[in-house]
Amino acid sequence: MPSGAQGQVRGAGALLAILRDGQARTRGELAQLTGLSRSTVSQRLDGLMDHRWVVAGEGSISSGGRPATMFAFNGGARVVLAADLGATHARLAVLDLGMTVLAERAVELPVDQGPERTLGCVVDAFHELLAATGREPVQVCGVGVGLPGPVEHASGRPANPPIMPGWDGFAVPEWLGARLGAPVLVDNDVNIMALGEHWAARPEADHLIFIKMGTGIGCGIISGRRLHRGAQGAAGDVGHVRVPASDAPCRCGNTGCLEAVAGGASMAAALRAAGVEARGSRDVVALMRAGDLRATRLVRQAGREVGTVMASIVNFFNPSIIVIGGDLAEAGEQVLAGVRETIYSRSLPLATQHLGIRVSELGDRAGVIGAAVMVVEHVLSPDTIDRIVTK
Ligand SMILES: [Zn+2]
Repeated sequence: MPSGAQGQVRGAGALLAILRDGQARTRGELAQLTGLSRSTVSQRLDGLMDHRWVVAGEGSISSGGRPATMFAFNGGARVVLAADLGATHARLAVLDLGMTVLAERAVELPVDQGPERTLGCVVDAFHELLAATGREPVQVCGVGVGLPGPVEHASGRPANPPIMPGWDGFAVPEWLGARLGAPVLVDNDVNIMALGEHWAARPEADHLIFIKMGTGIGCGIISGRRLHRGAQGAAGDVGHVRVPASDAPCRCGNTGCLEAVAGGASMAAALRAAGVEARGSRDVVALMRAGDLRATRLVRQAGREVGTVMASIVNFFNPSIIVIGGDLAEAGEQVLAGVRETIYSRSLPLATQHLGIRVSELGDRAGVIGAAVMVVEHVLSPDTIDRIVTK
């Protein structure tokens, strides 16, 4: 820990963060690292153990002859529920606070049937998953949900989501919280995918951009290892950036949007106009894999269009890594080639010198893992812990 931060380490929550990181394991190490007295450290640890956030055991580190007591974060004591809702499918999971997946399931669940029916199915599925893990509802300490549309960050409510009729302004956190008995955090699907990918595959990256290329296009921004949501939660909505030399009509009412030329829906429409059966981005990728040259050309061109917009973002934001996810990421090198080609030719050399451009490692699990990351980080944040542990 940098010496400048020592003066801020006061509460039990800060000690828990140190134990989670593995920076210290004994009273002596905690006292040395934080500058707190051993008696204060002991008092804080007692508070954390009362709430079962921390467990103690005899260790092998010797201090003056006898073994010191070792303290460890008790990640298995509680569980979180995580759900990633897409347009037609959802993925749900139960994880412990150490991010171990205890149960996971993908279900067909269209969001266009409205919030109460959709979320009712989510509640039922969570109860079934919990039962499968042998955990009790009382052990649930938080719920994370990703939605396929804009979400106002402060309230957790969807804001004019284009593919979710009946959801505008719906109080998702309150509705779910009343039925699941735990705090509920809601964010858009791209933000939680960025969180999941960063946690699982790129924790060393300080500045990461996650681009979802599916039916629509959006990006999640990790800045200084934290999700950047912007003032209202609308940051990263690149799908409606104007692409030069295009007047293709977009579902938002404008023309020439990135999504209207490079989104899965527009590619499928282009294929249908050429007499090829294609309903969405998954069909486009399947056709490409089957060797359809029109689909392959469309995917590469979509990569170039996205790369052109991303080149400006690379100059502006200087990320260390760009991760491509969503259905089009399944196209692998075909889509990466187009993205790389334009970013490397149009961004400043200093910004691209060490820039990595990859496809998502978690694939369609990025969202559900990220929803869990969002909740675990909230539940275990020093502020939250200090409110619970008052010793
Ligand atoms: Zn648009």
